[in-house]
Amino acid sequence: MHPSEANALLPLALVVDDDATIRMIATQTLKQHGFRILEASDGEQALAIVERNQPDLILLDVIMPGINGYETCRRLRELDAGRHVPVLMLTGLDDLESINHAYEAGATDFAAKPINWAVLGHRVRYMLRAAEAFKGLVESQALLSSTQRIARLGSWSWEVVTERGQWSEEAFRILGYDPGSVPASVQNYLARVHPEESGQAREAIRELLSGKQMVEITHRITVPGGEERHVKLHGEVRCDDQGRPMHAYGTIQDVTESKQVEERIRHLAYFDGLTELPNRHFFIENVAKSLHHAKRHGRVLGVLSMDLDQFKRINDTLGHTIGDKLLQAVAGRLRDGIRAQDTLALTDGDAPLGLARLGGDEFCILLTEISQFHDAARVARRILESLAEPFKLDDNELFVTTSIGISLFPSDGDTPEALIKNADAAMYYAKSQGRNNYQFYGKTMNSRALEKLAMESQLRKAIERSEFELHFQPKLDLRSGRISGAEALIRWRHPELGMVPPIDFIPLAEESGLIVPIGEWVLRAACDQNKRWQARGLPPIHVAVNISSPHFRHSGLLPMVARTLHETGLRPDCVEVEVTESMLMDDMETTLATLHKLKDMGLRLAIDDFGTGYSSLSYLKRFPLDALKVDRSFVKDTPGAADDAAITSAIIAMAHSLKLEVVAEGVETEAQLDFLKARGCEYVQGYLISRPLAAEDFITLLTNEGERPVAKPLRASR
Ligand code: C2E
Ligand code: MG
Ligand code: MG
Repeated sequence: MHPSEANALLPLALVVDDDATIRMIATQTLKQHGFRILEASDGEQALAIVERNQPDLILLDVIMPGINGYETCRRLRELDAGRHVPVLMLTGLDDLESINHAYEAGATDFAAKPINWAVLGHRVRYMLRAAEAFKGLVESQALLSSTQRIARLGSWSWEVVTERGQWSEEAFRILGYDPGSVPASVQNYLARVHPEESGQAREAIRELLSGKQMVEITHRITVPGGEERHVKLHGEVRCDDQGRPMHAYGTIQDVTESKQVEERIRHLAYFDGLTELPNRHFFIENVAKSLHHAKRHGRVLGVLSMDLDQFKRINDTLGHTIGDKLLQAVAGRLRDGIRAQDTLALTDGDAPLGLARLGGDEFCILLTEISQFHDAARVARRILESLAEPFKLDDNELFVTTSIGISLFPSDGDTPEALIKNADAAMYYAKSQGRNNYQFYGKTMNSRALEKLAMESQLRKAIERSEFELHFQPKLDLRSGRISGAEALIRWRHPELGMVPPIDFIPLAEESGLIVPIGEWVLRAACDQNKRWQARGLPPIHVAVNISSPHFRHSGLLPMVARTLHETGLRPDCVEVEVTESMLMDDMETTLATLHKLKDMGLRLAIDDFGTGYSSLSYLKRFPLDALKVDRSFVKDTPGAADDAAITSAIIAMAHSLKLEVVAEGVETEAQLDFLKARGCEYVQGYLISRPLAAEDFITLLTNEGERPVAKPLRASR
């Protein structure tokens, strides 16, 4: 280190005296004790030097021209640079009065003249050390105070015997007091505690002061202006030899922010983001809690499960934004309705615990304050009523109904899962009863409704899992004796149940809307298959596909058909669409329009199961049909039963008068075949010709066709 740099590290002393001799001796003495020196001959000069040079120590004479030493000291203490600097006052007199004067003016110590210079040097060094220690203390206190502020952490202590307390600045601030503005007392602390939690806070203090080693509580406080904060109070106690508590101390921390984060996380985990209602998770917990209570007190509980009718249709046709808005609006109505109910008492803040959205358009309500099933029925009725008013969303006026299922504790289950499952089953039952109604869970409906429930969810997955296949039943042209077409019939290869016939799942698919994707799959698979047969050089045939009523009325049908034809590249006249007679009869105008559009695309149209729907001839004339399929029930007892034979003959004749080709279904015997042939029926389909065949077997049939005598039975595939 350079000598001048080392020099700069020496402490700096300022000697203030009007007597040049004294200044000289003092300078000499202090230099020997390792000080650097500055000199001033009066008070004003001294103050200027202090501001500029910030000395570490000042020797100050009392009697000087201009302002005296006392005044200089007083003014010095007002300067930033002079506030804490140690000042040794050199008094001329050692009477008590001037000593008092010196301390009052802010002197650190005094020395009476004449000065004992040898002693003064040591004294000054000691003063400097003490000042440094003091400075360190001030600094660490400032540091502590800022870290406390940053951590929103205050400290406190309490002397048991004297009942004196101390709070750090931050402790004051957390409690909403200006630091030092009130005594650090238990009363002033309790004055801030939220009324609902003051009992808990009092108890914690009592425990601590009765010698409990440690307490920690979190509670709310209210500060002036009404703001609410969450604080965590931690306390420990020190006892004397006899175990009597002497001194309690601890911290108080403002944990409002982390509480808020915690709240937010809890909210995300327990509430549904769209409707702000409790979610499934929360609902199950609430049911569990209420069940616990109900079991102990012998109370009745009710769970209502509801599902909006046809919500999927709204979502599909008007889009998800409207769908979401509708769900929010429904949630709002349910919430308002439930608030007005006396059957629900529990609430958690603003959210009624009883109402939850379990997913999609599925809502659940927990009834805790009911005494009998009538009460649950009353709530269900009110819900149905509350939804009866249309919902106005943007420019749409939407009518919504819901189906409600109710399960009760103790009769229908004693776990949340069982109650929800059974309420669901009842809800499905309500749907099957024509929607817009409520049903109680009953043991008898259990198996059927649950089976259906399970089936529906499996059906949903069946497409992705490629569990469907098509079988093809040949259609024989009686005029040429050749196979001219095939009807595509769906089969479900269920992983556990094996091959499920369409009659067991098509109605469910229709009811649940799943018929739309299933129907689309059928059409595509049928077109694909036909195209592949043609590609193998087999004689062209047309393939008939059954379209269900809900699918036929679905707005996406026509574009779907066009897309499928385009993508598979199959000629439209190789596809025949089969619709049932009853479908033509309801909503005739729309049906007519759709059929015309299909016809315009070039598809063949056939009316299926004819004879069962009592349609009048005059109606039939209006539809652009190609063929009519006589229902199996008439063919079955032909020609034996005279009336069936007569009806079959009449249908064939009538069809011909309308220029429709006739297909007879369910032909099983030679006698039937002969009868139909004699009546001029063009096509037959039935076990006599062939059962429905897997695609590969159907190829074998087509390929071997030339080797088979016309209209002789083919081997059965199943
Ligand atoms: P459908 O359209 O009238 O089909 C004819 C049904 O009669 C088929 O039953 C067929 O196997 C059966 N069948 C044919 N010949 C005879 C016979 O000689 N004797 C007897 N007893 N039955 C015969 P399947 O395949 O069980 O289909 C039943 C119904 O399910 C169909 O009646 C149709 O309404 C519906 N279906 C089948 N596949 C589909 C499909 O892909 N989509 C739709 N929407 N419905 C389908
Ligand atoms: Mg059919
Ligand atoms: Mg049929």
